[in-house]
Amino acid sequence: MADRRTPLLTISGVTVRYGDHLALDRLDLTVHRDELFVLLGGSGSGKTTLLRAIGGFVRPQAGRILLDGADLSVLPPHRRPVNTMFQSYALFPHMTVAANIGFGLRQQGVGHAETRRRVEQMLALVRLEGFGTRRPAELSGGQQQRVALARSLAPQPRLLLLDEPFSALDENLRMETRAELVRLRRSLGISFVLVTHDQQEALTMADRIGVMRDGRMAQIGTPAVLYEQPADRFVAGFLGAANILTGIVAADGVTVLLPSLGAQVTAARPAAPGPALLALRSERLRIGGAGAPNGLDGIVTDIAYAGESLSVRVRMADGSELRVVRGLADGLASGAVAIGTPVRVGWEPDACILLPP
Ligand code: ADP
Ligand code: MG
Repeated sequence: MADRRTPLLTISGVTVRYGDHLALDRLDLTVHRDELFVLLGGSGSGKTTLLRAIGGFVRPQAGRILLDGADLSVLPPHRRPVNTMFQSYALFPHMTVAANIGFGLRQQGVGHAETRRRVEQMLALVRLEGFGTRRPAELSGGQQQRVALARSLAPQPRLLLLDEPFSALDENLRMETRAELVRLRRSLGISFVLVTHDQQEALTMADRIGVMRDGRMAQIGTPAVLYEQPADRFVAGFLGAANILTGIVAADGVTVLLPSLGAQVTAARPAAPGPALLALRSERLRIGGAGAPNGLDGIVTDIAYAGESLSVRVRMADGSELRVVRGLADGLASGAVAIGTPVRVGWEPDACILLPP
């Protein structure tokens, strides 16, 4: 099916070097209008550098960055219709909340009355009505974060870049603020590129995710595609834990031989015949799956509570292990599953993820 979404930001072949370190390596990326695009990657993978290149704070040695088809490289940072909320955002401590939020508007030369109107609107958006006259020091960490967000939203940039915006917040506040941002964006018509190293954050917030590795995009896709059809072992391991077995895909593309276990299983999605890795998400595996199309026999070696589920480790004949996540609705550890018990681990063909070796 043709993709009818409108590209907003088009990045092609962008390379950034710091001395002899290659931080971005001929990177390509398209972000669509009204999209919340999440950049996910380990520390040092180039996420911040990419935001800095888009914002105009670092000049690429090669490549092009277009916004609505116009080359951004000719514009200094403050002239770009792009705003950045940096990892280490700082509110102006001597200014009131309202003055902080209105800062970008005054820079743009927006009039007094209009600035006041927009500041009130932003305060309402981030649910801080009545806080306009306070100083940042009189706010909690979470409230300060929302002021910083309001400050970067107020000038109505076409694109807002957020670098790990929730990293300073504790768990509850982080979840609340994430939900707030998802709610806000629907009413604003602004596109977002949000950087995180938190896979849960990426999966719950993103329209699409780009997984970065060594200055390149390892894979770009919706959360569902990245989770269910990762391109390689790196992406499979980055988005949720996966059990990885070594196998050989037969000529039919769906039969997978597991030589070290003397077993074979069936996948739903065909892959190229030959050596392959078989990735299995723990939550797609069942213990005692006698009726399941695929199964491997092993011995339970470990059982651990993991909040809403049990994590059961099963060792197979060749010494490799499968981690199975078992919902507590299936019964407690004291039931059928105990350490030392022989069990069968079963799964459906569509739980097989075949990856290049
Ligand atoms: P991330 O945000 O994904 O953690 P960065 O984009 O900050 O990664 O950094 C990518 C790589 O470039 C890292 O190896 C980092 O050490 C290096 N780097 C970042 N900024 C500079 C700089 N100003 N000078 C030299 N090296 C830098
Ligand atoms: Mg960074």
